[in-house]
Amino acid sequence: MTYLQQEDKAVFDIIEKELDRQLHHLEMIASENFTFPAVMEAMGSVFTNKYAEGYPAKRYYGGCEFADQVEQLAIDRLCALFDCKFANVQPHSGSSANAAVYTALLKPYDKILGMDLSNGGHLTHGAKVSFSGQNYESFSYGVDENGLINYDKVAEIAKIVQPKIIVCGASAYSRTIDFKRFREIADSVGAILFADIAHIAGLVVAGEHPSPFPYADVVSSTTHKTLRGPRGGIIMTNNEEIAQKINKSIFPGMQGGPLVHVIAGKAVGFHYNAQPAWKEYAKQVKANIKVLADVLIARGYDIVSGGTDNHLILVSFINKPFSGKDADLALGNAGITVNKNTVPGEHRSPFVTSGIRIGSPALTARGMKEAEFKIIGEKIADVLDDIENTELQKKIAAELKALASNFIMYEKSIY
Ligand SMILES: *Cc1c(COP(=O)(O)O)cnc(C)c1O
Repeated sequence: MTYLQQEDKAVFDIIEKELDRQLHHLEMIASENFTFPAVMEAMGSVFTNKYAEGYPAKRYYGGCEFADQVEQLAIDRLCALFDCKFANVQPHSGSSANAAVYTALLKPYDKILGMDLSNGGHLTHGAKVSFSGQNYESFSYGVDENGLINYDKVAEIAKIVQPKIIVCGASAYSRTIDFKRFREIADSVGAILFADIAHIAGLVVAGEHPSPFPYADVVSSTTHKTLRGPRGGIIMTNNEEIAQKINKSIFPGMQGGPLVHVIAGKAVGFHYNAQPAWKEYAKQVKANIKVLADVLIARGYDIVSGGTDNHLILVSFINKPFSGKDADLALGNAGITVNKNTVPGEHRSPFVTSGIRIGSPALTARGMKEAEFKIIGEKIADVLDDIENTELQKKIAAELKALASNFIMYEKSIY
């Protein structure tokens, strides 16, 4: 029996149900993953008890010698992974990391230029409902009718806007991001280049997507998406002056005590990211989503931009009688978790949409390969072809539950 099981059965039971849900549905949300049990052990460790405001060897509390060691180890491992000079591993999330970057480098109402939310960007890239669109004067670029970033267009917009910072990186974009080209655009208007690689970081460290270094001035990421570590954020740079500003903006600027237990988990995650097996994982992530794209194309579905270079695809239902929301619900009933997503030429509301986003990182972490992704692709098409057939959805849910049970990732819910 675990302590939780003995002391708080109510929470224990909910966590058990969540484990069951994670293992018996097919998790295909592109931003999700299954972290390593060793990462979860570190996150559940005694470091949750420790206050360690400040940075290694520069703390505001006593007793930080081991917090120092684990944070320094996380920083050193992260710098080695990305071949960069400075890193901050304290951001509580990707959004907090981005807030710290802006706070460090901008004044209120400075101009930022980022990718539009409905075109694949993130809320924190200047969306009006986000602090990034409220505290700064935000402008956006998007994708063309084929779903691709038109870099000439970005350059034109930058020339008119004259932003202080250009944000590149996305949450729903299936093609390679040309960081060199973004650098040229930033240079042409004297802007700082900020790369947010929250989605693709795991591919970058494996050499499966070009690195934002040396082009970007500052780089942020999450650690829980393709990196497969604990939930959290990180910021990296090669510029010492920027590094110092970032450190100040995280603490004391925006956060209090760092989550040392999560930083320990980040260090463990970075250890896995540095192993030869990591390259195999990243290659498999890409191979798997390609198989899925090919099956859906063969079955008559439109993939935005015609395919993918990374870990995700966007499927467009612009020419279909059903919406992204309908597809999301039908696939959910069939045991496949995806999310609805706006697509180029969108004519439905953001709550309905005409597309879905599908990713391969989580199922690849569970050990699935091309053969399984082929089966899943056919099942997705079966559901979509007959989208109102709830009996079929139930039947497929049972079949996929059986498939998923061959790929059990965790033996228990608590590590
Ligand atoms: C997910 C994501 C974030 C935010 O991460 P959270 O941890 O959810 O705050 C930031 N930028 C991009 C591009 C993302 O995809």
